[in-house]
Amino acid sequence: MAARVIDGKAVAERVRARVAEDLERFVERTGRRPGLATILVGDDPASAVYVASKRRQCVAVGIADHHRHLDASATQEEVAAVIDECNANPEVSGILLQLPLPKGLNASALTARIKPDKDVDGLTPVSVGRLWQRAAGLRPCTPLGVIALLDAYEVPLSGAEVVVVGRSELVGRPLAGLLLARDATVTLCHSRTRQLPAVCARADVLIAAVGVPRLIGPAHVKPGATVIDVGINRIDGKLVGDVDFEEVAKRAGLITPVPGGVGPMTIAMLLANTLAAAQLQEEAESVAAGSAGEGVQERALSNALTDAKRMSEAVATGESG
Ligand code: NAD
Repeated sequence: MAARVIDGKAVAERVRARVAEDLERFVERTGRRPGLATILVGDDPASAVYVASKRRQCVAVGIADHHRHLDASATQEEVAAVIDECNANPEVSGILLQLPLPKGLNASALTARIKPDKDVDGLTPVSVGRLWQRAAGLRPCTPLGVIALLDAYEVPLSGAEVVVVGRSELVGRPLAGLLLARDATVTLCHSRTRQLPAVCARADVLIAAVGVPRLIGPAHVKPGATVIDVGINRIDGKLVGDVDFEEVAKRAGLITPVPGGVGPMTIAMLLANTLAAAQLQEEAESVAAGSAGEGVQERALSNALTDAKRMSEAVATGESG
């Protein structure tokens, strides 16, 4: 029997609609419009396309665009100064430093400079620590998108065997953290994993985030499993994932296509994160204006995350096709 195909475009559309609605309520209540600062250094064509798409989608849901474009020759100090400006600017709720940066710039040092409460990519050391300590905080967009897709299709995670292939800082590792927080039994595979097909075949939910076209075939998949393909690879001008879609779809129960699966979710979750960042900053400020006590930030973060959770519940209870 052929697998049911997950419609990432439709779920992303529902997330965007929900963010747009919540955002207008936030603006009415606070008189402030959340804003995103995308920082692009140099002229890498793929990065330029990604940033343009992020900006377009932000504006479409009502997020203010505070884009900054620096020349490829910008120094570490110049990029740091722009990040500092955005950190200090109350109009900027979220900051996204588009990676990769031109050679000669230290990306980790610059990322670490972003204020954690504006870290909509969830990549600063503080955000990573918060994730692994299960403290409230902003989480990376692609892993959040994968979880939102699984929730939208009501895939059970608690106690489930979930195998993630790929251990990058951007996808595999944070995804493992999010899945653990949802009580899944998580196995994280990588380039040195032995007997990858056998390990993968244990999975109720198999997630590929590798960057090797069609690495995952039917031998990696337990019949009826859910297969999520994060990979984006270009072959002869055509996009393909890390999963051999045609063959695996004959064996899986539920599967994401490429394109149209995880891809559209990443930017949708960036929009949700930008609103969550604005909410938590506003909360922290209003508490600070009154009697700022201990745990102000923790309270602000958990309030914002409660909202984010409500949103993901709304996504999950929407029509999932
Ligand atoms: P990466 O190159 O940083 O990491 C790849 C990981 O795969 C590594 O941990 C490596 O150990 C593992 N790996 C490599 N070869 C392997 C093999 N043969 N067997 C098992 N594991 C192997 O990549 P990344 O940034 O995590 O991205 C992974 C893929 O996801 C890429 O195709 C990328 O384009 C895509 N991606 C998509 C989105 C999206 O929005 N859909 C976002 C981020 C990344």
